[in-house]
Amino acid sequence: MLQESIKLKNKNCKFGLSITLTDQIINNQELILSWLKEINVKNISYNSLHFTWKYDKWRDYYERATEFICKSNDILNECVESSIQSKINVIVNKNFKYFGCLAAGVNQVVDKPNADICIYHGEFKNDDSTIDNIYNFDFNNIMNYEKLHYYREFNPLNETECLKCDALFSCGGGCFLQSKKLFGIASKNDKAMCIIIKK
Ligand code: SF4
Repeated sequence: MLQESIKLKNKNCKFGLSITLTDQIINNQELILSWLKEINVKNISYNSLHFTWKYDKWRDYYERATEFICKSNDILNECVESSIQSKINVIVNKNFKYFGCLAAGVNQVVDKPNADICIYHGEFKNDDSTIDNIYNFDFNNIMNYEKLHYYREFNPLNETECLKCDALFSCGGGCFLQSKKLFGIASKNDKAMCIIIKK
């Protein structure tokens, strides 16, 4: 990433970066943020880790990731992070963000290597997640598949706790796979993602 970015900067190219917020990135934030400022990145998007295993320190990780994103926004003030920008757009344009990812609302399906279809990448190894085979799958009637009924309702308007939340309009809900692994239930309000979204 470092060398390619320097080459692009030296050629006066405008470029963006997608950065996964690992502990190595968060723990070296001074260094990383001063480097990002120096290379004059024009567009940035941060990906928080989504835990697909039981991890007791999720709160600590999400609080540190949130702090990192906010600090980045202060330091790289001409380069608003993409998820923050999308939430600002929702508020400025007076829209409502219904879904936080493409699987929610059934806006995607995933084709497995064996031609079976499931709803999201996180469970493509799980045979129970199979909806159909691509050769039989009826895309025109996708909403009629019983296995997808749960996901088409997956937005925070259907969660009592979210109805009281200030972030409701610009949220879209968290990650149901992470919610299932961390909290035992595929809830619309993934309490880990809520930390970032509310901030
Ligand atoms: S931030 Fe959390 S509680 Fe608030 S609307 Fe989003 S998912 Fe619901």
